[in-house]
Amino acid sequence: SGKWAKAMDIVKEFEEKCATPIAKLRQVADAMTVEMHAGLASDGGSKLKMLISYVDNLPTGDETGVFYALDLGGTNFRVLRVKLGEVDNVKKEFEEVSIPPELMIGKSDDLFDFIAGELAKFVATEGEDMQIPAGTQRELGFTFSFPVKQSSIAGGTLVRWTKGFNIEDAVNDTVGTLAGGRYTDPDVIAAVILGTGTNAAYVERANAIPKWQGLLPKSGEMVINMEWGNFRSSHLPLSEYDENLDSDSLNPGEQIYEKMISGMYLGEIVRRVLLKMAEEAEFFGDTVPSKLEKPFILRTPDMSAMHHDSTADLRVVATKLKDILEISNTSLKMRKVVVELCDIVATRGARLSAAGILGILKKIGRDTVKEGEENHKSVIAMDGGLFEHYTKFRNAMQTAMDELLGEEASRNIIIKLSNDGSGLGAALLAASHSQYR
Ligand code: ADP
Ligand code: MG
Repeated sequence: SGKWAKAMDIVKEFEEKCATPIAKLRQVADAMTVEMHAGLASDGGSKLKMLISYVDNLPTGDETGVFYALDLGGTNFRVLRVKLGEVDNVKKEFEEVSIPPELMIGKSDDLFDFIAGELAKFVATEGEDMQIPAGTQRELGFTFSFPVKQSSIAGGTLVRWTKGFNIEDAVNDTVGTLAGGRYTDPDVIAAVILGTGTNAAYVERANAIPKWQGLLPKSGEMVINMEWGNFRSSHLPLSEYDENLDSDSLNPGEQIYEKMISGMYLGEIVRRVLLKMAEEAEFFGDTVPSKLEKPFILRTPDMSAMHHDSTADLRVVATKLKDILEISNTSLKMRKVVVELCDIVATRGARLSAAGILGILKKIGRDTVKEGEENHKSVIAMDGGLFEHYTKFRNAMQTAMDELLGEEASRNIIIKLSNDGSGLGAALLAASHSQYR
């Protein structure tokens, strides 16, 4: 019928807008490299903040002792206790605590009192084998990830930090992941988080940071926290749905790259396309399903479950549509279209993430095979629920990496899941900055 054709036109137009052929990905990667240079040249020189992390000595693998870490995420935090022996001989104990909702909308003092209380309880469970030397004090690393704000959009709550809390005092979770990754593998040169939000950090030559006026560190290196979620470029394949998502968001004009690739937003983009199809092509019948009008109702894990549905009649898709959107009696043909939309959105996000990584590799000269030189491996430590759990996203990203780098170079570049690197990384940074070393 005409309505079906109209719906298919909407899908086709969206698909064309989202296309990420290799030539486009190269443009995105080049733009990322250019912005990295600009952000390193001067504060405010780029959408990329390229924050100096003050981490200039990453763990070597030789750290020993007992250290604590606090990893504060969106809705919960973890306290960790690690005993560092040799690499691959890390004893790790942790406790995950969810943050009472009333503290998320209250004063930061109350929140930190609560955290301190939970930390004290955890310290009290210290076993015989986890004691620190007499006469020393326990040392604590602290990572702080920004999704506090982001996950609260979905939850309808907002944490307002009072001005007394300075985020830059804490190690960013991406920097933590880099430290944790480096501890177990000396070839780790960058870390990328693909979770609710997205970010990247990498090891830069200290003398390639013109905006840094201070003394150069002995190591000659400095970890840069890119805050890459805020990247934007005219080369990004933005659709009308992305533009509307952005203008309806709490931070219009910001985090444009993040809004195309991270877990907070992928399901929401799919919802917006489905809504348009319902409104303009009666895709779900002559009334628009009211649940479909609700922002962020379709979460990325649900999108992922539909995308991976391997049943012949797409039963998972049917169930999700019914349970989440209260849409029943969908035909197999319709469900296939839903899967296709998930594929378009996930594939675009994955390929754009790969282009971002290529941008970093180019910046540090690791994107090509060098004639007559020994070619080191470059490992990118990855963390985040999106990368970890969304298999089709992860595979599409690896495929794009291989296409971009070519067979030879791609053999030396390894993307490695560094599960929970950030908590371990915080403890390791406490170790490598220990006052007792
Ligand atoms: P955070 O980024 O908040 O620190 P995580 O790294 O654990 O937390 O990532 C959680 C995010 O990962 C979720 O918000 C969601 O977007 C995404 N995610 C979790 N599980 C899945 C899944 N099964 N499929 C796709 N995405 C998922
Ligand atoms: Mg996290």
